[in-house]
Amino acid sequence: MALIVHKYGGTSMGSTERIRSVAQRVAKWARAGHQMVVVPSAMSGETNRLLALAKELMANASTPEALRELDAVAATGEQVSVGLLALALQAQGLQAVSYAGWQVPIHTDTAYTKARISSIDDQRVRADLAAGKVVVITGFQGLDPQGHVTTLGRGGSDTSAVAVAAALKADECLIYTDVDGVYTTDPRIVPEARRLTTISFEEMLEMASLGSKVLQIRSVEFAGKYRVPLRVLSSFTPWDIPIDEEAQSGTLITFEEDEKMEQAVVAGIAFNRDEAKISVIGVPDKPGIAHQILGPVAEANIDIDVIIQNVSHDGRTDFSFTVPRGDYARTMEVLKAKVQPAIGAAELRGDPKICKVSIVGIGMRSHVGVASKMFRTLSEEGINIQMISTSEIKTSVVIDEKYMELAVRALHKAFDLDQPATEEH
Ligand code: ASP
Ligand code: MG
Repeated sequence: MALIVHKYGGTSMGSTERIRSVAQRVAKWARAGHQMVVVPSAMSGETNRLLALAKELMANASTPEALRELDAVAATGEQVSVGLLALALQAQGLQAVSYAGWQVPIHTDTAYTKARISSIDDQRVRADLAAGKVVVITGFQGLDPQGHVTTLGRGGSDTSAVAVAAALKADECLIYTDVDGVYTTDPRIVPEARRLTTISFEEMLEMASLGSKVLQIRSVEFAGKYRVPLRVLSSFTPWDIPIDEEAQSGTLITFEEDEKMEQAVVAGIAFNRDEAKISVIGVPDKPGIAHQILGPVAEANIDIDVIIQNVSHDGRTDFSFTVPRGDYARTMEVLKAKVQPAIGAAELRGDPKICKVSIVGIGMRSHVGVASKMFRTLSEEGINIQMISTSEIKTSVVIDEKYMELAVRALHKAFDLDQPATEEH
C-alpha cells in the first residue's frame, strides 16, 4: 500500500463525463489498496471566465483590496471541482471528502494572485486517510496568516499537488494532464518531438522556467526541495488500463542519484515568446552603470532576464536586457523618466518582437562544443543571434521572433532529438 497524490488539470476535469472518468481512475487506485489524495484544477476555461467577470467590474487591479476579491472569485473554480469530484467518487462506492485550501489548511503568504505556500497542516487529511477515505483538496488556493483566501498564480494547482505530496511524504505524485508526458520540444512546432521517459529534476526546472508549459515552475522547485517523486502522464488513456502499465507511463522526473536511462547531451529545446528586448545606447562606461540602469527597473518589480553589455568606444557603451513582454511599456517609461536623464544615455531602443530559444541538458556539463554546435546550426539557417546567456546546463539565445519555429526545428534535428534516444554515449 502506498500513499499516492493524483493531480488532474482543467481539461481532465472539463465536463461531468470527464470528472466521472477521473473518479473511476482514482477508484481503481484506491481499490488496489492505495491511500489516495486528489488535487484537481478548476474545470477548463473556468478560471479565465471568473477572472474576466471580475475584471469587468473591477476599477483598479493594483490595490490589495481589489486583489483580495480577485482571489476570492478565482478560487471558486477549484471549490466547485472538488465537490463534484467527491460526489463522483462517492457514486463509485468510495468514501470521499472534499476540502478547500482553508479547511486543510494550506497556509500561504499574503501575495494575492501569486501567493507562496508556507506550510500545510496534514492532521485532518491523515485522519481521513486512516479512516479509509479518499481526500479531495482544491488546487490553486490557500489561506494567508490573516485568514484571507489566496491563489498561487496561474497553473498553481501543480504546486498545490506537489506541496501536498511533500507534506504527506507521499510515495509518488502523479500529474495527470492532456499531454502524455514531457517532450523534447513542443510537438505542435516539431512533429518529430519525442516523449522523454525520464528527465532530471534540474532539466525540468530549466525547461519550465524557459517556457515549457507542462508544469508550473514552482511545482518543480517544490519537488526538488522535498524530493517528491513526480510523474507527468495522460488522463486521456482509458481509465481502466492496468494500473502497473499506467504507473510506468508518461515522464518520470528523476533526481541525480537515480540517473538516467536516457542520457542525451541535450534533453530538450524550450522557447519563449513572452519577452521583449530593450537597449540603452551610448551610456558612459564607468563603475555603477549597470546598477543605475537596472536598479530602477528592479524597483518597479520588473523581472530582468538576459543581460548584455557591449565593449566600449570612446568611453561609451550599449547595454541591453530583456523583460517580460507584458512589462515592456512600463520598463520604457521607467527608463525614460528615471534612467536616461540621470546617466545621460543617448538613446533608448526597444524590440518586443524577439524570442528566446534554449537548449537544455545536464550532459552539457561534461561535453564541450554543445553551445558552438547550437550557434553553427543557427548560422547555417541564416539566423542572427542578438543575445546569449548560459548556465551549466543550458544555453539560451535571443533571436528575431519570426525565426522561432525554424530555429527550434533546426536545433531539434541537429541534436538528434528526432531519433529515439540511445544508451549512454
Ligand atoms: N485553475 C487555475 C488556472 O487556471 C490553476 C490551475 O489550473 O492549475 O490557472
Ligand atoms: Mg496546468
